[in-house]
Amino acid sequence: MDPIIIVGTGLAGYGTAREFRKHDKETPLVLITRDDGASYYKPDLSEAHAKEASPDDLIKKNVDAMAEELDATIHTHRQVESIDPEARELSLNGDTLKYHKLVLAFGADPILLNLGGDATQSVHKVNNLADYRSFRSHLGDAKHVAILGAGLIGCEFANDLVGAGYEVSVFDPAGWPLSQLLPEACGHAVEKELARAGVHWHLGHAAVAVHESNEQLQVVLDDDDSVYADVVLSAVGLRAGVSLAQDAGLETDQGIKVDRTLATSDPHIYALGDCAEVDGQWRPYVGPLMQCARTLGKTLAGGEGDTAGAVKYPTLPIIVKTHVCPVIVYPPVDKHGEWQVEGDGANLEARFVNEDGELLGFALTGDATNKRRDYLKDAPPLMD
Ligand SMILES: Cc1cc2nc3c(=O)[nH]c(=O)nc-3n(C[C@H](O)[C@H](O)[C@H](O)COP(=O)(O)OP(=O)(O)OC[C@H]3O[C@@H](n4cnc5c(N)ncnc54)[C@H](O)[C@@H]3O)c2cc1C
Repeated sequence: MDPIIIVGTGLAGYGTAREFRKHDKETPLVLITRDDGASYYKPDLSEAHAKEASPDDLIKKNVDAMAEELDATIHTHRQVESIDPEARELSLNGDTLKYHKLVLAFGADPILLNLGGDATQSVHKVNNLADYRSFRSHLGDAKHVAILGAGLIGCEFANDLVGAGYEVSVFDPAGWPLSQLLPEACGHAVEKELARAGVHWHLGHAAVAVHESNEQLQVVLDDDDSVYADVVLSAVGLRAGVSLAQDAGLETDQGIKVDRTLATSDPHIYALGDCAEVDGQWRPYVGPLMQCARTLGKTLAGGEGDTAGAVKYPTLPIIVKTHVCPVIVYPPVDKHGEWQVEGDGANLEARFVNEDGELLGFALTGDATNKRRDYLKDAPPLMD
């Protein structure tokens, strides 16, 4: 029988492979990755200084150990170039591999800002261990780091770098940090606590250019103000990797569209993780992908006539690792309602309620995060 092939060795790819092997120890399994196949926990990247970890310290297992653990063949530094669903084969750097079932766990790609200036090539992004290795090596003797984007990844890096002694400036066109996740009051709580730790905020203005200037980088804002830094990190969001799937004729929207069984519009191809949109929801976080990996691992091990399992998401909050002001947020799926915020200083409880007063989502900051259990009990599941 042709093997099951998984494209991607991130948490989604390796997670699925592990779950599959719990149920099936016989079927040949092949994984393909364009990186070195090391297994690491990606959320650690934005708190590596706090954990006093070098990039190498973050590796849990190298590719040989993973191949042994999974009894799998793992092709590293290989890029899948196209998929032919009809022939059930894919091509990578000149070779063609046939599959029995295919799992797409490509992840997402960082959004690149359309910046002007002569130093855009010097702007870092961090969405994998290789990116992080490059970023850390450029930190070297740097004193001042500029971060473009005050979302989850930008804020977590700001916390980690300021804690490690760097001067940190954060830029975002929104009026408060974590603006896609938090109501304004909670965002300002995070802003104040990070400012107290030393972070300089430049909110309400977009960065438009990065220039070389006297061995430094000059970040220019849309009001012509500018800030000089030694290293610039862009953290302005991610976009699901859908182009290969699109070219193969699979249905895509925000991500590769899959149903609750994680099947794409082709019944022999599945998708999960940051590249997939599950039953209309694109959730690029670890909690949802682990639920998917468990469901899919069992399905892949099932026989032809078996009914595929359907994924469910419980109440899965997002934990933002801004340790100077911890945040736990459960953004509402149903956006019909309003935020009600109470509390003092950095310790805020925000409830998102509908017109009947039902709790649809919540955000907790500072010491209020200790109340997470009460909120998790009352909030609806993410996908039931
Ligand atoms: C700094 C940072 C901090 C984060 N913190 C948190 C957090 O605290 N909590 C949380 O829930 N989430 C967090 N996230 C998000 C979370 O880490 C991701 O949702 C998750 O790791 C995605 O896993 P994945 O396997 O889908 O994708 P990835 O880990 O991106 O893996 C994609 C894989 O596909 C391979 N690939 C891609 N294209 C090809 C191709 N054409 N051919 C061959 N191989 C290919 C890549 O080489 C890689 O192996 C964080 C993300 C970042 C960047």
